[in-house]
Amino acid sequence: MASAVTTASEVLAKYEAVIGLEVHVQLLTETKAFCGCPNRFGAPPNTNVCPVCLGLPGALPVLNKRAVEFATLASLALNCAVRERSVFARKNYFYPDLPKGYQISQFDKPLAEHGWIEVPSGDGIRRIGITRLHMEEDAGKSMHDGFADSATRTYVDLNRCGTPLIEIVSEPDMRTPDEAYEYLTRLKEIMLYTAVSDCNMEEGSLRCDANVSVRLKGAEKFGTKAEVKNVNSFRFIRAALEYEIQRQTELVESGGRVVQETRLWNAAEGRTYSMRSKEQAHDYRYFPEPDLPPLIVTDAWKAEIASRMPELPKARRARMIAEYGITEQDAHTLTATREFADQFEEAARAAKNPRRVANLVQSELTMRLKAAGLELEQSPVTMKGVAQAADLAEEGKLSSKQLKQLFDLCFERTEDFGPVYNREKPQQITDSSVLEKMIDEVIAANPAQVEQYRKGKKTVAAFFVGQVMKVSKGQANPALLNELVTRKLDG
Ligand code: ADP
Ligand code: ZN
Ligand code: MG
Repeated sequence: MASAVTTASEVLAKYEAVIGLEVHVQLLTETKAFCGCPNRFGAPPNTNVCPVCLGLPGALPVLNKRAVEFATLASLALNCAVRERSVFARKNYFYPDLPKGYQISQFDKPLAEHGWIEVPSGDGIRRIGITRLHMEEDAGKSMHDGFADSATRTYVDLNRCGTPLIEIVSEPDMRTPDEAYEYLTRLKEIMLYTAVSDCNMEEGSLRCDANVSVRLKGAEKFGTKAEVKNVNSFRFIRAALEYEIQRQTELVESGGRVVQETRLWNAAEGRTYSMRSKEQAHDYRYFPEPDLPPLIVTDAWKAEIASRMPELPKARRARMIAEYGITEQDAHTLTATREFADQFEEAARAAKNPRRVANLVQSELTMRLKAAGLELEQSPVTMKGVAQAADLAEEGKLSSKQLKQLFDLCFERTEDFGPVYNREKPQQITDSSVLEKMIDEVIAANPAQVEQYRKGKKTVAAFFVGQVMKVSKGQANPALLNELVTRKLDG
């Protein structure tokens, strides 16, 4: 058994994976790409439709200006060169959820090209190339399950037809599933910061197809790739890639050949299945869309869009590290979403010590959120609450034990820090004579540590503070306790 495992990992080590990702992102416009229908998720089936998005004969598309602005903003945020003149094209195929028989997309003249995203890799940073970013429309949705007659019928909901999308195609630059995971995380973050999409994967506003091949390490030519479609979380994409790399490696190693095909991820079984052989670009009979003029993004318009660019995550992290003296890791947690970073900064600016706010988020908050399975934005304790707790601790009005207890209560009761603190008003011992008595006892019980202190090891003071805190059941006023311990030890 052990030797079989070793052999498998030795074989894997001889090969290298090559990964390229195609990501579809739904744009958060009010209306659809080429008509005035609402662009909204969750409406009753087939209610947000009109002759244009239903593809009725004679209906003509009109391009949504906001969609172009969002797509351009995203392009610039991804370091792409935006073409002054891009061209819409028809991508022809038949499917029940595509009543027009073609999808309006862009082909040889996409909106933007030659961008990149930086991802952490090993000890350094790697730049993953973005081949192109183009605009297109979404198709409708076929519904195969959930109806009484689902065994014999499929229903079609055309609400999603004509939803504006951008497709972002990466270069085959990634080499590990972890890099792919990082690329997606950074990409999503940039889409959220620029607010062009809500990137909700459950609702399909961000979808990813993963292309992967393997080759012997050092080989120049890429191997034949397989494309894994419709994986609905970044973690599953990482798992699907890991599975595919192993499958392809074993296949090649045993003398077989990878076939170019589209595969589907089965999350329950943790494996991919062949779905169909891969179609080629020429299968789609692309041709320029005759009903839309070329899209012109002038330098002036581009500059106007660029002027609305918010501070992007990477720059924001660097600034927050400098401004608040927080760590790189703090900065990553605190910039997870733009709203959260905004809230942190508002709280940090008002707080006595911003670093303490960051520390509390990293220690007390993150740990409890993880345990409760909650996301940051679902936290019962707001950033304002964290700042309040930090200030009380800073002023010595709360011991760390009391702070922990209050945070526990907040999570038990799903309540913010302020109201919980006001109700609990934790007892504090602020009477010097009471504290002095406790200190005397601890000093008497630990002569060796007193000796160390008097010989110059001043850090031992913390030991005495800790011991008295224990004796006081966490209720000693920390500031007063510190002062009294030093005085006693020095005196
Ligand atoms: P196709 O024409 O089959 O759609 P593309 O050349 O358009 O292929 O590439 C689609 C995606 O697949 C891109 O993200 C690209 O980086 C990636 N890709 C291309 N060739 C390979 C390969 N041999 N291995 C892994 N990924 C690849
Ligand atoms: Zn419509
Ligand atoms: Mg392609």
